[in-house]
Amino acid sequence: MGLGVARLEGLVSEPECRLCGAPLRVSFADLGVSPIANDYVEDPAAPERFYPLHAYVCDSCFMVQLGTIVDAEHIFRDDYAYFSSYSDTWVEHARRYVEMMLERFAYDESSKVVEVASNDGYLLQFFVRRGVPVLGVDPTAGTAAAAEERGVPTRVEFFGSELAARLVEEGHAADLVIGNNVLAHVPPIHDFVEGLRVILKPGGVVTIEFPHLLRLIEKREFDTIYHEHYSYWSLLVVERLFGEHGLELFDVEELRSHGGSLRIFARHAGSDGDAADAVAAVKERERAAGLDRLETYTAFGDAMREVKHNLLEFLIRAKREGKSIAAYGAAAKGTTLLNYCGVRSDFVDYVLDRNPHKQGTFLPGVRIPVRAPEHAEETKPDYLLILVWNLADEIVEQMAHIREWGGRFVVPIPEVRLID
Ligand SMILES: [Zn+2]
Repeated sequence: MGLGVARLEGLVSEPECRLCGAPLRVSFADLGVSPIANDYVEDPAAPERFYPLHAYVCDSCFMVQLGTIVDAEHIFRDDYAYFSSYSDTWVEHARRYVEMMLERFAYDESSKVVEVASNDGYLLQFFVRRGVPVLGVDPTAGTAAAAEERGVPTRVEFFGSELAARLVEEGHAADLVIGNNVLAHVPPIHDFVEGLRVILKPGGVVTIEFPHLLRLIEKREFDTIYHEHYSYWSLLVVERLFGEHGLELFDVEELRSHGGSLRIFARHAGSDGDAADAVAAVKERERAAGLDRLETYTAFGDAMREVKHNLLEFLIRAKREGKSIAAYGAAAKGTTLLNYCGVRSDFVDYVLDRNPHKQGTFLPGVRIPVRAPEHAEETKPDYLLILVWNLADEIVEQMAHIREWGGRFVVPIPEVRLID
């Protein structure tokens, strides 16, 4: 059984903007060809498939999206290896979110909370503990089974307007609909957002978290571009998408997660109450940063190449000095970064990861072996390159003992930086 996305037949080419339908012709980030980022290699003698990884910006509506997409049916299947609960940081983020929402909207045993892409129940479990009825929706059977074990009822399906209508008929109309880090994974974005509208009760609230395109550009986070992420969002573009489906934004929070995310609050258009000032403020910052001008997007390629040259300079110098280098985090962004930079086991001996399903495999494309964190003690690397820089604090704490042998932490983005 493959761990990642072993079955890849359906390459779908979509030369039109998925938001407005205009032809896609302006390059944002061209990462060449890359394997599917979470398709960990179990048999190093086996071949691998590489697909174009090229993000475009629509010159009509400024939505950033991949030009060629690999069909979701082939990516998010039963054996998808990511379990949210493996990240302490992420579970704590979810716990704090639930506390905040209970405080702000006073959900109780008469409410219904639906989470789309509920994964292994890492978030809904906190509503369950407070007696609030929940329903998870997730297309991945493996993570859904883990959710059920946590007491989180879960439907193993892709979310869209058709499922939303069925769920409403079955009595699952929601006071709160949550979607964290799912917007980027959905190719039919109009049907997805229409589903949010359909399942939302009058007076209900939708919260959606997604990595903020403004941060991706400012912090050069091009390694968050991979085949599973079809789209990259600014508040300006999300507001337009939601508006086309009768949903209005009434608040937004800026979060540190995933290198800088937005959490938007939406409701049925025409609901009572003013929108928080934060909505206008974030949009104003996006305009000030040029997200409503094409040249901001076309300049990104230079920033990306700068990161690559910077990282290769560091790695070459370290190798010439006879240093050993290991990495931490067998995650999708590491696959993107190392494949784009051409960094294989000639530079990085292995990648550490806590997820036992990934240990013993190889990183896609670059074929760097994945090991348990304890492996570091055997080889005592001089540098630990943190590929999952969004979790750098957690990893520096967890791996602090590498300092006993003089090991040092390195973060590759937005530029190479040693953490002391
Ligand atoms: Zn467009």
